[in-house]
Amino acid sequence: MANRVWKIHKDDTVMVLAGKDKGKIGKVTRILRDKNKVVVEKVNVVKKHMKPNPYAGQPGGIVEKEMPIDVSNVQLVCPACAKPTRVGYRFTEDDKKLRYCKKCNETIS
Ligand SMILES: [Zn+2]
Repeated sequence: MANRVWKIHKDDTVMVLAGKDKGKIGKVTRILRDKNKVVVEKVNVVKKHMKPNPYAGQPGGIVEKEMPIDVSNVQLVCPACAKPTRVGYRFTEDDKKLRYCKKCNETIS
């Protein structure tokens, strides 16, 4: 579903739940909504061999790149209680949607 609500936002801290980086905690640097994937700092890093490209001024060599992982494989780490948690939604009186931690009930900005 393309229009489903995303509970993970850019700059959130998340924990990886599956794969080779299971248990790692990092910051979300990119969201790929159409692919249901996120890029997390230092998670799912692959080494790429780059050819030198004199036109772009690139010297070549080994470049580390973070590959996207499925959003269902990460869980938000609550800034208040510092635990990986499920996220709920509630609405303020002026109808603003806020995320909150289902563990400690704190609002997550
Ligand atoms: Zn919490």
